[in-house]
Amino acid sequence: MAILQTRSSPRRTRTGAGSQLLLRRTAQIFGVHPMLIGVLGTGLALGLVSLMLDAVQMTLGDATVLVLAVALGTAAVATSWLFAFMLREQVSREKKLRRLSATDPLTGLANRRSLELHLTQEWDKARQRGSPLSVLFIDIDHFKRFNDTLGHAAGDSALIAVAHCVRRVARRSVDFVSRFGGEEFVVVLPRVTAEVATVMADAIRQAVQGLQLPHVTSEYQRITVSIGGATCNPDEGFAPTQLVEAADAQMYAAKTAGRNRVQTIALTKTALAA
Ligand code: GH3
Ligand code: MG
Ligand code: MG
Repeated sequence: MAILQTRSSPRRTRTGAGSQLLLRRTAQIFGVHPMLIGVLGTGLALGLVSLMLDAVQMTLGDATVLVLAVALGTAAVATSWLFAFMLREQVSREKKLRRLSATDPLTGLANRRSLELHLTQEWDKARQRGSPLSVLFIDIDHFKRFNDTLGHAAGDSALIAVAHCVRRVARRSVDFVSRFGGEEFVVVLPRVTAEVATVMADAIRQAVQGLQLPHVTSEYQRITVSIGGATCNPDEGFAPTQLVEAADAQMYAAKTAGRNRVQTIALTKTALAA
C-alpha cells in the first residue's frame, strides 16, 4: 500500500460554496439532511412554477409561457448542478474520512485496523488460490532508550524513517506495510514462501541498519530492528491471528537471541501440534 497522504478538495466554485453553505445552514435549522432540503425545495419550486404557468397561460398566452418554461428549465439545471456540487463534496469528505481512519497519522502507513481488514482479505485469496501467505513482525530495538536519550520528537522522526525504509524494501504492489502500534510494524506478503520471507526480512533488517541512525545506548550504536516471520498455507486450516501471533513469537525469539536479527517459521499442522 502506498504511503497515504490527505489533500483537501482542490476546486470549488464560489457560487457552489455559497449555495451549499445556505443549504447546510437551512438543514441545520430544521435538523434534516441538506439533500432533503434541496429535494423538498425543488419540488416546492416546481409545483409553484407549474401553478404559475397554468395561471399565466390563461391570462397572457403561449409566448409568455415559453419564456417562463425556459426560466424554469434553467432553474432546474442550476439546481441539479448545486446537488452535484454537494454530492461531490460529500463523497470526497467520506473518502477522506475513510482514508484517515485507515491510516497511521505519524508514518502515513496503514494502521492496525486496516491491517486486520487487509489480512482477512489476503487470507481468503490465498486460501482460494492455495498459495502461501507470509507475515513479518518488525520491532525497533531499545526504542525506549532512544527516546530517553534523544527525546520523543527524535523518536518520532526515527519511526517515520524506519516506516519509509520498510516500505522501500517491501515494494511489490501486493506487499502491505502497516504500523501495528508503538515501534512495531507488520508486513503482509502474499504468495511468499518461508524462504523468500526470510530473505525479505533480512533485507529490511539490513536496510534499517543501513540508515545509520545513531543510537548510542544500543549495542549496535544505531537504530536496528528485530524481525519475526511466519508463513502458512491458509487452506490448511489455520487462522489469520495464528499467523500474526507466530510472527510475533519469532520476533521475541530474535530479541532474546541478541536483537538486530531475523527469525522465521513455516507453520504446518505438525509444527503446531508439536
Ligand atoms: P525492545 O528492544 O525489547 O523492543 O525494547 P524497546 O525499548 O524498543 O521496547 P519497549 O516496549 O520497552 O518500549 C517501546 C518504546 O516505544 C516506548 C515508547 O516510548 C516508544 N514509543 C511507542 N510509540 C511511540 C511513538 O509514537 N513515538 C515515539 N517517539 N516513541 C514511541
Ligand atoms: Mg515493542
Ligand atoms: Mg522495541
